Amino acid sequence: MASRREFLQKAGLSTLAISLPLANSFGKTNEIKNDQVLRVAIMGLGSYGTRVAEAMKDCKRAKLVGVISGTRSKVEAWQQKYGIPAKNCYNYENFDQIKDNPDIDAVYVITPNSLHKPYSIRVAKAGKHVICEKPMALNAVEGKEMVDACKAAGVHLLIGYRMHFEAKTLEVVKRQREGAFGKTLFFQGLSGFSIGDPTQWRLNRELAGGGSMMDIGIYSVNGSRYMLDEEPIWVTAQEVKTDPVKFKEGVDETITFQMGFPSGAVASCLSTYSLNNLDKFFLNGTKGFAEMQPSTGYGPIKAWTNQGPIEAEHITHQTTQMDEMAAIILDGKKPIIPVDGEEGLKDMVIVDAIYKAAKIGEKVMLG
Ligand code: NDP
Repeated sequence: MASRREFLQKAGLSTLAISLPLANSFGKTNEIKNDQVLRVAIMGLGSYGTRVAEAMKDCKRAKLVGVISGTRSKVEAWQQKYGIPAKNCYNYENFDQIKDNPDIDAVYVITPNSLHKPYSIRVAKAGKHVICEKPMALNAVEGKEMVDACKAAGVHLLIGYRMHFEAKTLEVVKRQREGAFGKTLFFQGLSGFSIGDPTQWRLNRELAGGGSMMDIGIYSVNGSRYMLDEEPIWVTAQEVKTDPVKFKEGVDETITFQMGFPSGAVASCLSTYSLNNLDKFFLNGTKGFAEMQPSTGYGPIKAWTNQGPIEAEHITHQTTQMDEMAAIILDGKKPIIPVDGEEGLKDMVIVDAIYKAAKIGEKVMLG
């Protein structure tokens, strides 16, 4: 497989461009699929980057092979720990050279939010697939630029929506789509945690692009869409601030927001940086309900319905995510809930509308 990959890279073709026709024309692609592994470089060796690296040790289809970091000591520690060769180590100044490295297929951008767009676009221009953390960008305009840049470069853009591969979440989604709950008319999403250190980037508007809404409230936005299987047509929102010193102008502490959907369904959600243990989804339909708590934390996720508990093995979310993302990129596999740039963009459009609605105090129409 290495030789096929090298041939393609020399020929200037992305793995995306050829893996799909091969899979389609041969029908049975198991031999081709199973020995292909997505070789990933992680950019941003922070708290979440470390979690992803650890989870990737158990991956079957994805392998950590490189790093991009501004901190030399971390690079050295990761080289030791994960056996990363010096030729696969970059910093933020020189990582465009990754285009000449045939041993890296994709870069996972796990930096503060404001860096997602510029760094993802540079990765795409270097011809590598982009996996980018949520929120994909600071707003929908930036998100669209990322989608366009990746399309132009012929590379995948995937957003780190790990819940889209989580077994209990997928079971609830399946039952909702099969009509087990009847017509689903109400979703409640509660997303929050109590944030500590006031000097961290999450409380710096330049780097975070906002506050709790960008970081944790986005889970309720995203969850409402996959739990109801619809796109909202309006939002209303209200902002509450109890600590204006810690949560400065443009950094939201708490936002409550509501969304309306074409079917008549409504969502009622809370995003906050001031309460712990706030991680709950509730879906109610004419025939039944589903409840998840915790619903988006690292798990194990707990889920039950009017018919009883949902049982499924807990697998580290990021392990499943990276194996599934490898299958999307290498085999053209279609996930049940999308994780592509367009999916991330839909959330950014809604987040923009929530901020606008909170600011102007009026309902904001979408679409
Ligand atoms: P951290 O602060 O722990 O790590 C961010 C890393 O980015 C730093 O360690 C640093 O790595 C790098 N970096 C580059 N430029 C800067 C800068 N100007 N300031 C600070 N760090 C910089 O953050 P997290 O790992 O918690 O979050 C990173 C991203 O991951 C965010 O977008 C967040 O929303 C997302 N995330 C997603 C989660 C999920 O479940 N999907 C969970 C947690 C976070 P280096 O020293 O190597 O350059």
